[in-house]
Amino acid sequence: MGKLVKYNRQAVSFMIEIPNTASQILKALELGGYEAYVVGGCVRDSLLGKTPHDWDICTSALPHQTIACLCGYHTIETGIQHGTVTVVIDKNVCYEVTTFRQDGTYSDHRRPDRVEFVRSLREDLKRRDFTINAMAYHPQKGLIDAFDGQADLKRGVIRCVGEPARRFEEDALRILRALRFASVYEFSLEHETAQAATNLRHLLCSIAGERIRDELCKLLCGQNAGVMLSSFTSIFCEFLPELNGLLALNSKQSNQPNPWDATVQSVANAPAKPILRLAMLFHEIGKPFRFTHEIDGIPRYYGHAQKSAALARTILRRLRFDNASISKITQLIGLHETAVVPTEVCIRRQLSRLGSEQLRRLFQIKKALIASQPSDRKTDSLFVLEQAERTLNHILEQKQCYRLKNLAVTGRELIAAGMPQGAQIGKVLRTLLRLVIDGKLENRRECLLAYCQKEGWIAS
Ligand code: ATP
Ligand code: MG
Repeated sequence: MGKLVKYNRQAVSFMIEIPNTASQILKALELGGYEAYVVGGCVRDSLLGKTPHDWDICTSALPHQTIACLCGYHTIETGIQHGTVTVVIDKNVCYEVTTFRQDGTYSDHRRPDRVEFVRSLREDLKRRDFTINAMAYHPQKGLIDAFDGQADLKRGVIRCVGEPARRFEEDALRILRALRFASVYEFSLEHETAQAATNLRHLLCSIAGERIRDELCKLLCGQNAGVMLSSFTSIFCEFLPELNGLLALNSKQSNQPNPWDATVQSVANAPAKPILRLAMLFHEIGKPFRFTHEIDGIPRYYGHAQKSAALARTILRRLRFDNASISKITQLIGLHETAVVPTEVCIRRQLSRLGSEQLRRLFQIKKALIASQPSDRKTDSLFVLEQAERTLNHILEQKQCYRLKNLAVTGRELIAAGMPQGAQIGKVLRTLLRLVIDGKLENRRECLLAYCQKEGWIAS
């Protein structure tokens, strides 16, 4: 159990710089006779020297009292039964003010059946997940650190407030949150916390897909994502059972890593963006279904990229990802093995198919894959990719044509030149575009119209 220490002994002399509006909210609540503090993630991030992305406030005022104290502000009763009032400063800046509370029993491993408002800050801190998230700060009273969160921050340890098994049983999402904070801050899990997280991983099945999605994205983009994936693989398999088949595959070559280890490496080597890291996490999951044969003892899995993409689509839907992200991720997975040819024609073709943003992503995942291979061909392939990137930049700088939008004639101009209206126009435009992309026709109006005349599509 986390140690409770007296507040004032923990009050420290350093200052946390609080945004003006947050200080004004604290003052307004205090003027009404209530206690108020900034709390949780913003205190943790400030102590780590990072800029907090939001400032949460906790107070002894009940929600209606909070609203009365903040009558000069635009307030919304966001989660009044949980005690939360949102103060809207403008459309980009909001502050959440939550009444000190303790959580009742949890019967579904997700949410408390009821919450109870309490008078003491200590009780409120006690319901929070980890010691590093259970600190409050007040400009005059200093840091209120009832569970040694500051020491854990210094040691780089994620430790549950209270008994880990009980805390994970209450809300199983905390298991993933523990891994997420360890990944993002390069921390480790305290022994009991790690054991309870692993033992109770089956409870993750009761957590809604979107809550898992949000934590997974943050976790995968952390510095220590690779370490978390290898150290807590069984936890990931609990909500991503599709990984199990990949884990069962073994490399027979001593100089080749196992497919799962290679996957973990590729996640860590990809830039820290959810789309890229998810594409890497799932790019091989189709392998167990696509073993075809061995060449010189090396197993081949022809067609696994498409199978992985199909499995990834199922997973991402289950985790409630939006359709745009699902298409980007699965497209990258499906293409992860296609060769990149750095000529202008080939890059223009890929640009017309994928667009510049997605093509850059494809180059980034291919680089991550190369970096994860121990092979001698590494420098060669990297050289080709770098050349392809230079070609891409050149094409974009020169504003070369690779989509209908940039073609030097429009459908309207073809009609004006005598082409009959109808489906034919679209076909002609696409043919012209293909010839321009392939470098067989110059993207100039006269050239394109002359070609149409030569083909007899318009009268000369
Ligand atoms: P982030 O940087 O992602 O915002 P955060 O710690 O602020 O991290 P939030 O989800 O914004 O995370 O939650 C704010 C605070 O609420 C946390 O710092 C923690 O004290 C508490 N908290 C959030 N989720 C839980 C949970 N599942 N169980 C217990 N306490 C929680
Ligand atoms: Mg937060």
